[in-house]
Amino acid sequence: MASCKFCGGEDLREFIAQEKMLGLGESFVYQECLSCQSLQIKEVPKDLSPYYPSEGYYSFIPLVKSGSLRLFLKKLRMRMFLDLGISWKSPSYGYWLKRIHRKFEDAIADVGCGNGQLLYELHAGGFRNLTGIDPFLSESSQIAPGFKLVKSKLEEVDQKFDVIMMHHSFEHLENPEEELKRCYNSLNPGGRLLIRTPLANCEAWREFGENWVQLDAPRHLIIPSLKGFQSLVSKSGFRLKEVFFDSTGFQFWGSRLYEKGFKLAGQNLADHFSKKELDGFNKKALQYNQEGKGDQVCFFLERVD
Ligand SMILES: [Zn+2]
Repeated sequence: MASCKFCGGEDLREFIAQEKMLGLGESFVYQECLSCQSLQIKEVPKDLSPYYPSEGYYSFIPLVKSGSLRLFLKKLRMRMFLDLGISWKSPSYGYWLKRIHRKFEDAIADVGCGNGQLLYELHAGGFRNLTGIDPFLSESSQIAPGFKLVKSKLEEVDQKFDVIMMHHSFEHLENPEEELKRCYNSLNPGGRLLIRTPLANCEAWREFGENWVQLDAPRHLIIPSLKGFQSLVSKSGFRLKEVFFDSTGFQFWGSRLYEKGFKLAGQNLADHFSKKELDGFNKKALQYNQEGKGDQVCFFLERVD
């Protein structure tokens, strides 16, 4: 019998979700757990590749490297931000980096790293032991000393890490319990895990339902609720240290586009919304985050030993 992949609950409400990002319109059955409100696709399509077109998809965009002056400035700013707490021109991702950072020598893995741009920014900022892992890379490569990209799955990489990060790759995976186990096994004792993911049972889901932009059928195979994720973590050997909401105006403008029957790909936002509207969406997202109602979060976990 089917059960919730997060809490194990067996009362599931089924509903239909359509592919909307590319505008293919195909229908997929999803399930909402009535006990924890997590979401999951009922059957994972055998071939997901038609839903990840190579044109313009993130893994296939070339890495943008910085010149030596920019590298110097990035390193300086990273030191000022992380070591001295000065947030002059601090990186836009500083809010999560600060929470997982201990040493520049820490072995850090980014699982589902795409073209590796984010790790490149950390490399430019002075981090010295970086590994990007993604089975969809065209090939493995050593980008710079202390920074490599590996075409592989996490469990096939023969290395232990101090930090594992998953930036919006978790929801594309099929089995959350196994993924946490793999992360646990690939971390050193006391290692840290950052999972950034959409969150079910959020305000945007209630407001937009199947037009909620981060439902993203059929690419998002699982979307945890807070309750469901807590339940999963309790069985995993991790401790959930902090939940930080980082949703953006995307939850409003993306879902509005779907409501109006548009696809997401290839849209020019200015054709649909005024600057004032977009500013309003961002402001509302900040408010939702403060109230714990936003549609995406950072889960900060620590391996318990
Ligand atoms: Zn559940």
